Amino acid sequence: MSIKENLNNLKSNIPDKVVLVAVSKTKPISDLMEAYNTGQRIFGENKIQEMVDKYEEMPKDIEWHMIGHVQRNKVKYMAEFVNLIHGVDSLKLLKEINKQAEKHHRVINCLLQIKIAEEDSKFGMSAEDASALLSSEKFAELKNVEVIGLMGMATFTDNMNQVEKEFKFLRHTFSNLKNTNPQLEIISMGMSGDYQLAIDCGSTMIRVGSSIFGVRN
Ligand SMILES: *Cc1c(COP(=O)(O)O)cnc(C)c1O
Repeated sequence: MSIKENLNNLKSNIPDKVVLVAVSKTKPISDLMEAYNTGQRIFGENKIQEMVDKYEEMPKDIEWHMIGHVQRNKVKYMAEFVNLIHGVDSLKLLKEINKQAEKHHRVINCLLQIKIAEEDSKFGMSAEDASALLSSEKFAELKNVEVIGLMGMATFTDNMNQVEKEFKFLRHTFSNLKNTNPQLEIISMGMSGDYQLAIDCGSTMIRVGSSIFGVRN
């Protein structure tokens, strides 16, 4: 099926209120443009340089989301245009984003990445560390970043019970933190293999790549 058909199928399967981030990493501009011409305006990339290159070549009404792990020394390259950084997992990184955002007189929206997977390889903070960060004075001093939600990646497994447990944990963490941080609005969870389950567990934003653009090399 074409990218257009994939996108239309996907959109008819998800509630209107769930935001779809089209994950276009490794894919050529022509593929992104096909999605764009179908109406898609939110794209997610996991490498800063690749996102910058695509930003420069593509129409300027696109929202660019950085969904991958962020190296502090590369924040400066995307500070001018990035719309949402999903993988923020330390105060140190937030400070750098704040510094670069200030240079461009912007406020950059961020999500805190919570470690929900069992495996060790995944990045992210504990729920306790996220809570401490959000209530710290050092965070309150940062005027050019806004934390508007949480992001999580479930364990890479066929065991959907495990994945469900992890999504529910993120949802629960979100509800707890929202009591004291009403600015939290977004729960970014769910990819090609598990977005339906993620939505059932309360996801408000899904990040889908291969179901739209086909498998990556
Ligand atoms: C690649 C990627 C996705 C999309 O994965 P698919 O399985 O292709 O839908 C989602 N989130 C993150 C953080 C990714 O790196």
